[in-house]
Amino acid sequence: MQSNPVSPIDEYRRQQVCAATGDCLRRAAGICHYPFPLIDISFDLSGRAAGMYRVRQGRRCIRYNPYILARYFDEGLAETVPHEVAHYATDVLYGLENIRPHGAEWQALMRALGATPRATAKYDLTGIPVRRQRRFVYRCSCSTHQLSTRRHNRIHRDSAAYLCRRCRVPLVFAG
Ligand SMILES: [Zn+2]
Ligand SMILES: [Zn+2]
Repeated sequence: MQSNPVSPIDEYRRQQVCAATGDCLRRAAGICHYPFPLIDISFDLSGRAAGMYRVRQGRRCIRYNPYILARYFDEGLAETVPHEVAHYATDVLYGLENIRPHGAEWQALMRALGATPRATAKYDLTGIPVRRQRRFVYRCSCSTHQLSTRRHNRIHRDSAAYLCRRCRVPLVFAG
């Protein structure tokens, strides 16, 4: 059991993951005879998955979890990278709405890439922040307050007001 908090992978290792993703994509292009365009890569995934392929507002993106990759770096290169590349490639070729996420098309490409077509992996998440709570700093007239994302959104979207319990002044976002 590892109990020390895990630090996210550094810039050097992020570049290795990006290079491996590009490499894998080129191999997928050779296998499928299709010139897949390069895809955006981010390292902003938190939670229990090592990677995620996402399409949002027409933009395709592969997101990696920098904490899980820190502990499972080799597995990440060997499994997570082809896993997400295969999601991307099968989306381009067939369309997400026409295939099951880990269906036959995805599995076939995973095998062709030399990876095991496993839908999920079991990770030891000890010390890995699975729910990274963002906090927003607000001020009243007597101190500062840390507000959750939910409260911050309520103030901005719904014009809700929160009063400081001590000075009774509405909290103002400190930026
Ligand atoms: Zn998947
Ligand atoms: Zn106050």
